[in-house]
Amino acid sequence: MSTPGDTGGKRPDRATLVYTQRCKEAWNDVPVVIGGIEASLRRIAHYDYWQDKVRRSILVDSKADLLLYGNAERAIIEVAHRLARREAIEHITDVRGTAFMRRTGAEAEVPFRDWFEVDSTEVDRPGRIDSHINPYLTTSEAAASVGETCAKEEGAAAVAETALFNVIAMPTSRKTGKSGNTGNTGAVTMPARDRTVIRLPSYEQVRADPVLYAHANRVLHLETNPGNARALVQRHGTGATARDLWVTPPPIPLATAEMDHVFDLPYARSPHPRYADDAGGHDGSTKIPAWEMIRFSVNIMRGCFGGCTFCSITEHEGRIIQSRSEDSVIREIEDIRDKVKGFTGVISDLGGPTANMWRIGCKSPAIEAACRKPSCVYPGICPNLNTDHGPLIKMYRRARSLRGVKKVLISSGLRYDLAVKSPDYVKELVTHHVGGYLKIAPEHTEGGPLSKMMKPGIGSYDRFKQMFDKYSAEAGKKQYLVPYFIAAHPGTSDEDMMNLACWLKKNGFKADQVQTFYPSPMATATAMYHTNLNPLKGISRQTEGPTARAEKVDIVRGEKRRRLHKAFLRWHDPNNWPLLREALKDLGRADLIGNGKHHLIPSFQPVVDGSYASTRRKNSTPAVVPGQRTSTVTRGRLLTQHTGLPPRDTGVAAAASVAPRPARKRKA
Ligand code: SF4
Repeated sequence: MSTPGDTGGKRPDRATLVYTQRCKEAWNDVPVVIGGIEASLRRIAHYDYWQDKVRRSILVDSKADLLLYGNAERAIIEVAHRLARREAIEHITDVRGTAFMRRTGAEAEVPFRDWFEVDSTEVDRPGRIDSHINPYLTTSEAAASVGETCAKEEGAAAVAETALFNVIAMPTSRKTGKSGNTGNTGAVTMPARDRTVIRLPSYEQVRADPVLYAHANRVLHLETNPGNARALVQRHGTGATARDLWVTPPPIPLATAEMDHVFDLPYARSPHPRYADDAGGHDGSTKIPAWEMIRFSVNIMRGCFGGCTFCSITEHEGRIIQSRSEDSVIREIEDIRDKVKGFTGVISDLGGPTANMWRIGCKSPAIEAACRKPSCVYPGICPNLNTDHGPLIKMYRRARSLRGVKKVLISSGLRYDLAVKSPDYVKELVTHHVGGYLKIAPEHTEGGPLSKMMKPGIGSYDRFKQMFDKYSAEAGKKQYLVPYFIAAHPGTSDEDMMNLACWLKKNGFKADQVQTFYPSPMATATAMYHTNLNPLKGISRQTEGPTARAEKVDIVRGEKRRRLHKAFLRWHDPNNWPLLREALKDLGRADLIGNGKHHLIPSFQPVVDGSYASTRRKNSTPAVVPGQRTSTVTRGRLLTQHTGLPPRDTGVAAAASVAPRPARKRKA
């Protein structure tokens, strides 16, 4: 993706380890500071899907001196200035958003002696019941469960106080009278949060014990709000070689003026000149797919408060939205228009992790600073969330009215349960910013897997679709929603996939491209995959019987079952029918096999090659024969850019001076 000509193998696997090693070989006395997504998501002991095992923090393996996680502008500036003042890197231990290794116990350096250590099992104890935030409750329900209310505005201050008071779970002080690290008994005044560090189970413990891994993951996710997160520490190694990994609390989000400063820097807006062809361009054999994707797109914000468990964006960028100003975004569009070679008047995206979260956030900074919920939109939209899409609509209008801009598309993922709160926004989007197809990601139709993903029910999709169809018709446009689904996500039963297949058939969708769940480091769904437990609920060794308080999660492992789940998504492919017939019989649903409209798959078997090709190979773009279309678009058929989706209606064709391709018909 990031290499000219899309050739693979140009960068080493585990690049951070290799590059750090090379730096150390070349300049052994120069500190190495690592960052970026690889370092960020591997900052503590984590499950690694490649090796199917729990790996140590990347700091241990890379031997780097300091790790900066997240976007890290503040940390980079702070560290750079302090190094420039000749401060030793070992002394830089107080910068938010960093991680480093230090000696343990009595050996520990002086700066760590005045920290109060709380064992993570005192925050969220595996094996007993602790009062804890339940992500399956709305804010109001959670407040009600502890005998409080959650009034919207008039009670905001009260809610803030309640949240501050209730969410800080320090059961030791209240129930046993023991302090975290002194063993004293009696009433204990808990230390300030900014001098408190939570000790997670060690690397050796989480590697050996899935329950402790799930517990550590749960505690880690509780300590992600910069307003109340505490530092974390995790031992790596034993005996004389033991070292503590310290992870400082997440960085304070950038304010809008700071975001503008970062985004207004004089970027080259071009790949490295080394990658250019003889003519100085990046076309033909030197085309870089990743560059093509971002060339005319504008990033308007960072962070995501959705909390989807399979996604690691929150662990990297945080869940407080950091937005640029409208002026800064407009300046960038003008910059692209004036400076980027090949600009045809089409901005391919105004987006970010989620297209419609720009300038959306908690109504009260005090409530936000105290909040410990993993999502602002699950299981429903939090009453404290400001869902006003007005500023975004205004920015869209200004962007598309700029001189030289013919079309502004929105291609980033859309949080549609949030969008339906603002019909004006959906109307604006559908009328002006969709190029024929809008990709959205319900991810599933069934409650079981959706609850493990922390995604809204399919009813939200239906509401959005109604609005999408209505406004498309009003605009006289023939436009389609392209829903995406994930196969084999933790918590998905074979029956769930069968029901999804029936939904797809009923709604006339034939997916060409299928996403299958792959565990990414640190994600909650990855912890489910590795441990068979649901960290969103309490973690306990008690998973069976009437007193069970941990939830076991059905994990789709092994080639055969993963194939079956993918086959349900591609229910229309005759290659999959023998496998599906067998599964339907096992599920007691042989009634879905037959040749009627209400059947899922036919009873007859056409001649097929019988071979199974991986989705990637099967769906890779075939060589294009000039003048010949590679696929046909029919209503309800899921095509993607990889599988023959025709170019989006960008408005360029009509404006181009060359003979355009046949335009799609639109209603008058
Ligand atoms: S809007 Fe988000 S941050 Fe604010 S109280 Fe609700 S869940 Fe917490």
